Amino acid sequence: MLPTDTALVLFSGGQDSTTCLAWALQHYARVETIGFDYGQRHAVELTVRPTVLARLRAHNRDWDAKLGEDHMIDLSLISAISQTAMTHDIAIETQANGLPNTFVPGRNLLFMTVAATVAYRRGLSVLVGGMCETDFSGYPDCRDDTMKALQVALNLGMDSRFKLETPLMWRDKRQTWELAHALGGTALVDLIRDETHTCYLGERGTLHDWGYGCGTCPACALRARGYRQYAGTEAPAA
Ligand code: ZN
Repeated sequence: MLPTDTALVLFSGGQDSTTCLAWALQHYARVETIGFDYGQRHAVELTVRPTVLARLRAHNRDWDAKLGEDHMIDLSLISAISQTAMTHDIAIETQANGLPNTFVPGRNLLFMTVAATVAYRRGLSVLVGGMCETDFSGYPDCRDDTMKALQVALNLGMDSRFKLETPLMWRDKRQTWELAHALGGTALVDLIRDETHTCYLGERGTLHDWGYGCGTCPACALRARGYRQYAGTEAPAA
């Protein structure tokens, strides 16, 4: 049996996965991180990861003691086998099936499966991901049912007892900022706002009240609205 107090967090360097990492550091005795380089246009998120990790360590001594190895995995095969606005220089738009062309088919399935493979080797029992069904772009592999089905498939296929945790599944972006505040106060909110990266276009020139980004892509729009609702400078959605 795997110990149930160890976790592997899918950590991209974005707002959601950083909040998930803080959540995991609060809940588990040992926490490792995994990141994927898949030729994303916003590869800048990979360059902010070490800074975010260092600042999380400085933020909380307990978290520093619990935080273990960081695993960076090359998944460049994703951009080789798909053609989307996430990995290629084409405009972001909605496709005929209603999904934005930033959707990389099967990406989260692949991420979780690779994470499970690493967790198996490392003796980690909980896989933590920032998938969210509430304030998302309609990606079907972010759905709660998808993750529950994948948990069953991974456990059958690896004869293991992994638990997939998705602490943001039912939170909107405002509530994700509120979770960060509950976990680490204003200092953690400021850390996430200033150091994490969400923008699909990899824009990092201007620091807005909600952090860095182009301000217009779908990821920036969600992040900015959520932050302003959290900060009370914009009314929550009705
Ligand atoms: Zn943007």
